[in-house]
Amino acid sequence: MSATDCVFCKIIAGVIPAAIVYEDERTVVFLDIAPFEKGHLLVVPKRHAPLMTDLPEEDLAAAILVTRKMGERLMRRLPLCEGFNVLQNNGACASQTVPHVHFHVVPRREGRPLNWTPGCYDSPAEMENVLATLRR
Ligand code: AMP
Ligand code: ZN
Repeated sequence: MSATDCVFCKIIAGVIPAAIVYEDERTVVFLDIAPFEKGHLLVVPKRHAPLMTDLPEEDLAAAILVTRKMGERLMRRLPLCEGFNVLQNNGACASQTVPHVHFHVVPRREGRPLNWTPGCYDSPAEMENVLATLRR
């Protein structure tokens, strides 16, 4: 898949909408459309690269630092978030469905198992509320 056909490149270009939480020179972060948990984020390098191994080091380093920042942000701002998972898939055989490097950052709390079946927000308003909480 080329960058022109890539859904994340289209989000980065502003061609299709996304709930954008954070953006800087090299990296963008938005809410996952089918979250494992409310507040599930995707940290995405702006440069198109299918696998982590295709990405220049400076873009990868920037994305990892933003991933840490987003983990901190989830724990500080979501009242019930006590920790988080970082997931990063490379290749269809490894469950990668969007071939543009990304890090999932999933908020967690004690006693609540991770729901591997993607869910959704109870309402658009709830999603907007989570977006506003994380975007500030
Ligand atoms: P992966 O299986 O690691 O490739 O994960 C891709 C993720 O991208 C999935 O969790 C999808 O829910 C998410 N996703 C796909 N399209 C969009 C979109 N337009 N906006 C936000 N998240 C998306
Ligand atoms: Zn792309």
